[in-house]
Amino acid sequence: MRLCHHLGYDPLGFKIAPGACCMKIVRIAAYGLELPFKEGSYRCRNRTEPGQTSTMVEITTDEGLTGWGEVAPLGAFYSEAFAGGVRAGLHVLAPELLGEDPREIHKLVHAMDGAMFGQMDAKTPIDIALWDLFSQAAGLPLAEALGGRCGAEVMLYRSISQDSPDVMEATARRHIDEGYQRLQVKVGDDPRTDAERLEQVAALAGPDVVLYCDANGAWTSQDALRFLDATRGIDYILEQPCASHEENLRVRRVSTKPMVLDESCDSLEALVRIHNDGAADGVTIKISRFGGITRARRVRDLAVDFGMMVTVECVGGAEIISAAIAHMSLSTPEERRAHTVDFHNWVTVSNAGGFPPVANGRMRAPEVPGLGVTPHRDRFGGPLMVFEHDA
Ligand SMILES: [Mg+2]
Repeated sequence: MRLCHHLGYDPLGFKIAPGACCMKIVRIAAYGLELPFKEGSYRCRNRTEPGQTSTMVEITTDEGLTGWGEVAPLGAFYSEAFAGGVRAGLHVLAPELLGEDPREIHKLVHAMDGAMFGQMDAKTPIDIALWDLFSQAAGLPLAEALGGRCGAEVMLYRSISQDSPDVMEATARRHIDEGYQRLQVKVGDDPRTDAERLEQVAALAGPDVVLYCDANGAWTSQDALRFLDATRGIDYILEQPCASHEENLRVRRVSTKPMVLDESCDSLEALVRIHNDGAADGVTIKISRFGGITRARRVRDLAVDFGMMVTVECVGGAEIISAAIAHMSLSTPEERRAHTVDFHNWVTVSNAGGFPPVANGRMRAPEVPGLGVTPHRDRFGGPLMVFEHDA
């Protein structure tokens, strides 16, 4: 039996299982994969992308366990992140973790913060892989390792990419036929055109479908107020109308619609400000905006304590990130959980097996230890980079 280098001995005389102590990271590799959108392209904030570029990180321990994480930014326009930046960041971050115990996640997150200021997207696939390893080592599915599975399923929304009202109506019809009961209409364009888009989708959707109108911060407050005025008779939730906190507050003060903030919720401090100013009824927590599960969980838990509705999701990707999203969403109390997203069903390429099929617009999470998915490593080609520990 190996003894833990932290304890040096088993102080209470309990029998420590072999391998329970002194797990060590011996290898970190990253892989790239292009993920084209099933619908051909995706348009929001008045820009179109044909797909996403995924970066997947594999962390291997001396015990032979492997943990995986993924981040797939939406082009370079949606957030500070882009795939090239993520990959450059991994060259700085990965060497900091070699030889360390992957279960000491907070210590390793601190080490990554010390090595690199900000750059949360680059830290994200590493942090997720650490949680995958931690929960595997604990013998628990990630949802249980995060505190427990609240219910068996999480509701899903489908985003309706910006297009003509007729095309958006057709997209909405397809998603409703597939069983989705929550639709996010992408707005943020000319408010009169956006109002037509919403009217057409709302007429089709009926009362059983919950509608969100997401401008991704692309409107001025004037645009948002015109949209609100033109759509007074429609039941929907307004999401991130403007970019700045002050603009959103101007809209919030006169709006009767529930408000969700997404891009504005980019730090613990931002969440506290949103709460203190009464700026939103809910927040969207994108895992990669917080550098992974460690910080996203902290912000999620505080938002729940603040009484907000919470959506945990990310910016894109396939089964690996969908698994992380599903586990985090299911560890969120049901009465505060809004919905989430099945990104792997948005793209034509699969990066892992073992993810439970989505049915009736609801997603489950694997019930085996860790993330619970098996990456299709043989489809990824050679690694983009490999870092190995010199024993
Ligand atoms: Mg959003």
